[in-house]
Amino acid sequence: MSKRILVTGGAGFLGSHLCDRLVAAGDSVICIDNLFTGVKLNVQHLEGNPNFEFIRHDVTEGFKFEDVDEIYNLACPAAPGHYQFNPIKTMKTSVLGTMHALGLAKRVKAKILQASTSEVYGDPDVHPQPESYRGNVNPIGPRSCYDEGKRAAESLMFDYHRLHNTSIKVVRIFNTYGPRMHPFDGRVVSNFIRQAIAGEPITIYGDGTQSRSFCYVDDLIEGLIRAMATPPEFTGPVNMGNPNEFTILELAQSVVRMVGGDSKIELARALPQDDPKQRCPDLTLAKRELKWEPTIELEVGLRKTIDWFKSVDMTQYRAPTPNY
Ligand code: NAD
Ligand code: UDP
Repeated sequence: MSKRILVTGGAGFLGSHLCDRLVAAGDSVICIDNLFTGVKLNVQHLEGNPNFEFIRHDVTEGFKFEDVDEIYNLACPAAPGHYQFNPIKTMKTSVLGTMHALGLAKRVKAKILQASTSEVYGDPDVHPQPESYRGNVNPIGPRSCYDEGKRAAESLMFDYHRLHNTSIKVVRIFNTYGPRMHPFDGRVVSNFIRQAIAGEPITIYGDGTQSRSFCYVDDLIEGLIRAMATPPEFTGPVNMGNPNEFTILELAQSVVRMVGGDSKIELARALPQDDPKQRCPDLTLAKRELKWEPTIELEVGLRKTIDWFKSVDMTQYRAPTPNY
């Protein structure tokens, strides 16, 4: 049966792919977004579809809808240069935005999924990270507005669940990439591809030995939809990402090779404060409970992402912040 679904942050990178999948499945989608880091271009193709509605709204202000069956709460800047631009606003978005989404879920008895993050583990000293690991987060550092905001949001999700029996799903997303990443978001995949296409130096921070595991967007969206479909007893938190780990230097070399051109790889600046040295999801729980694991190899996902970056007119994109 067709559902009525609210996606906060639906004009962003992940949110717009999620809206696509839900509309294609025949569901009726309301997307709310303040367009801080998201762009109308991401959902333009859905406008005019009777099953899609875009509303420009800031989730730090309350919102009311009737008859919502499911809420995907994605509104929050995700790139370090974006969330550090106005850290107080980032914290308000995570905490107030999640409270407003939970208030709605409680009122209309909707299921709610929170887009949490591997950042709740901070700079981890356990590797790979299982959900039981409580993390190593600096509560007063430059990343804390995001990390602690997301931790507070998880806390709110579980308190609504315990107090009001709200049906919750908490998904901890690890680095995800793909078409529609904002070209000026300053994240490593978008920076390296944009730089390689322009023939500019590839900017490695630190010595490039820090590692990340990169999940292609289609895999992640499939995981979110499966998590929402789990029975009420399943709340998470559940990790979602790709367990294949690469150093940042290896990523730079792959991007340069695949784009072609003659970009030099440059040790551009010191590692930012509290930059996690390694990060990789333990997917035991997702495999067991959701029968989910990523299937798209980095080379395949990078090819699709590079093709997309080559196809877009970058002058259409305004850098949300100067940090890229
Ligand atoms: P994104 O920046 O492209 O998307 C976030 C969206 O939220 C944007 O469209 C933005 O305009 C909107 N937004 C921000 N503040 C808002 C506010 N106050 N009110 C309304 N809308 C607001 O980032 P993304 O990569 O698509 O991330 C989506 C979600 O997934 C975020 O919550 C992020 O924390 C989480 N996440 C993403 C990743 C990743 O690797 N992409 C990893 C971990 C967690
Ligand atoms: N990074 C880099 N060059 C860039 C952008 C990022 O070396 O131009 C590094 C960054 O310091 C971090 C990793 O790449 O170690 C991933 O950064 P990103 O901002 O994509 O996400 P994070 O996982 O840190 O949230």
